[in-house]
Amino acid sequence: MTALTWRFDNSYARLPGAFYTRQGPTPVEAPVMVVFNQGLADALGLVPPGGIDDRSPELAALFAGNRLPDGAEPLAQAYAGHQFGGFTMLGDGRAIVLGEHLTPDGHRVDIQFKGSGPTPYSRMGDGRAALGPMLREYLISEAMHGLGIPTTRSLAVVATGEPVYREEVLAGAILTRVAASHLRVGTFQYAAARHDVAGLKALLDYAIARHDPDAALDRVPALALLDHVIRRQAALIVDWMRVGFVHGVMNTDNMTISGETIDYGPCAFIDAHDPAMVFSSIDRGGRYAYGNQPAIAQWNLARLAGALLPLIDDDQEAAVAVAQERIQGFEALYTTAWQAMMRRKLGLVSEQPGDAALIGDLVAWMVDRGADHTLTFRHLTMGRLPEDGVWADEGFRSWHARWCSRRAADDAPEAEQQAAMAAANPVYIPRNHQVEMALAAVTEEGNLTPFRRLLEVVSRPYEARDGLDAYEAPPPVGSGRYRTFCGT
Ligand code: AMP
Ligand code: MG
Ligand code: MG
Repeated sequence: MTALTWRFDNSYARLPGAFYTRQGPTPVEAPVMVVFNQGLADALGLVPPGGIDDRSPELAALFAGNRLPDGAEPLAQAYAGHQFGGFTMLGDGRAIVLGEHLTPDGHRVDIQFKGSGPTPYSRMGDGRAALGPMLREYLISEAMHGLGIPTTRSLAVVATGEPVYREEVLAGAILTRVAASHLRVGTFQYAAARHDVAGLKALLDYAIARHDPDAALDRVPALALLDHVIRRQAALIVDWMRVGFVHGVMNTDNMTISGETIDYGPCAFIDAHDPAMVFSSIDRGGRYAYGNQPAIAQWNLARLAGALLPLIDDDQEAAVAVAQERIQGFEALYTTAWQAMMRRKLGLVSEQPGDAALIGDLVAWMVDRGADHTLTFRHLTMGRLPEDGVWADEGFRSWHARWCSRRAADDAPEAEQQAAMAAANPVYIPRNHQVEMALAAVTEEGNLTPFRRLLEVVSRPYEARDGLDAYEAPPPVGSGRYRTFCGT
């Protein structure tokens, strides 16, 4: 047997029973390991130094759910959520939490299978997932991690050897996801919707113990937790905006209490800077468009506040008033953090009166000209003023001149400014056309080489390396609109 060093301690399974249903994964026909994250496995203390043979059948059987590790107590979590604004009772329909693993450096992480068979919350779904989308989650979540953005991680993708039936027949797969927890805004909504104040209180205590132990000491712990979640989500959305990430399905069941990005379904990165950019084929109204993400985050946080009301004050009017004040506070928090982020992207060390206008004018120019988000900041970081493309136009050149004189006003060495910019502006993002090529090579030809290469590139996104120009380039002209899909 392949020796993985699990240390399970399953605290979620000690919550009141309404929060989950015990449910094991459904064994699969012919598991084969497609990609295994040696670096993460090592960081989690799962494998001996030097790694493990990721082609061993035992490892594939383990990450397919055919053989459970000692100490696992598999369960499907219950939660609710506003999906595109409409409230529904939900739950893990195709995911199973095996338990919580304690890492050598003292962290507690959920180990979750996605695509491991039906659960009581599957409704009409088959509980399964397809290889392409699971590899996509693996790639993009690891890219986000490389970008320094809080995210769930991906430990393994195993092909099941079974077909999944969607609009076409696809190869099945199971992703192993690692998360600080799977507590969601929707988990609190679930308890609130059941009018289960005791359950809600148990969940609050649980979330606080797991993520914000200091909140337990606060006069109103529910409010202290809310403040922490608001702060983490403001920081997270700023990070998304920084790199041009569009989550695509910011339903309240897909927003974590931990502040990690979760649920990589229809997400994608923008090429041209466009606040209206939407990739998801089902987001017809643009609810989850790039530029709408801060407002949606605030809306979701208001749903969290609403669920917490019974724990904020016995006087519900007073609870509403204080919760509203906290939710309104998101705006200032977000705007301040966004400005600070943009100053880092532009290498502005001190704060000067004209900064907001300088930043706003660049954004307006990018929108107006459809300038590539990543490349614009990359050119600035490298001190390039291109002779061609949109950057050659007069609007950019006059903005650039203003920016140069503004930077001269900073009493900071140029190397320091440049280093700040290089740390905020990635060279490589998972460009949509590259992602699609890499996934097509796997699903159509069984060729993993382009996927592995792209994974390697986007895992170190701030380090420019020779021979990788193709990964920096925007999609070829005439590529057409990129579309993503949920639920495959
Ligand atoms: P998502 O849009 O990925 O957040 O999923 C929304 C809900 O649908 C969650 O409760 C999922 O577990 C469930 N779901 C998605 N795909 C499937 C599937 N193939 N089988 C069962 N449930 C699913
Ligand atoms: Mg989800
Ligand atoms: Mg999903």
